[in-house]
Amino acid sequence: MSRSTTAAKQFKVIMIGDSMVGKTSIIQRFIDETFVDNNGTSPTLAWDFKVKTMPIPEISSTGEESKSQLEQVRLYVWDTAGQERFRHIARMYYKDICGVLLCFDLTDEDSFKNLNFWLTDLQKHAPEKVCKMLLGNKADLCTTDQVRKVPYDVAAQYALDNGMQYFEVSAKTNENINEAFLQLTIDINRTQ
Ligand code: GDP
Ligand code: MG
Repeated sequence: MSRSTTAAKQFKVIMIGDSMVGKTSIIQRFIDETFVDNNGTSPTLAWDFKVKTMPIPEISSTGEESKSQLEQVRLYVWDTAGQERFRHIARMYYKDICGVLLCFDLTDEDSFKNLNFWLTDLQKHAPEKVCKMLLGNKADLCTTDQVRKVPYDVAAQYALDNGMQYFEVSAKTNENINEAFLQLTIDINRTQ
């Protein structure tokens, strides 16, 4: 006899990247559908994690993604609570993660250069089959070449070299936020 209901899958996802790139704002936009604009003057206060239930295409026994059948998965999105300022993330943060959103600020070149540090930290502590995604945030500000400090192609190549997908997003305008989380969740579901 088949069960009529099964418990929803639960995936832990974390945000990493420099302070002020918009990690907390991205989670807030995705889960609370809000944005607190203080013109980049201070980091947003954080909590441990937020949860969202996501409908994603079901994977059949043959490994194909269904076009009509959806399954609900629970995404636990963890925030760093500011310890990234000191370049030290507690090891517990990386425990049992399925996915990671590696974030930088498109208007801040240093935050892009520092991705190497965060990737190394991740490789040291995270499970091997973690799904990684690169997010270039604050796309709303990139209206001129003077403001944008990281060209799309440069970041896309970096992502490719490190086995990640790349999205340019804006927590402020909601550009690509849902798309990025959906893609990451589908990738996790495929690899878990
Ligand atoms: P965190 O330190 O990485 O968690 O960064 P926060 O989420 O606290 O954001 C840092 C600052 O950048 C805050 O002032 C936010 O209002 C601002 N910010 C975050 N995301 C965006 C965005 O997409 N566009 C713009 N213009 N500002 C943003
Ligand atoms: Mg934060």
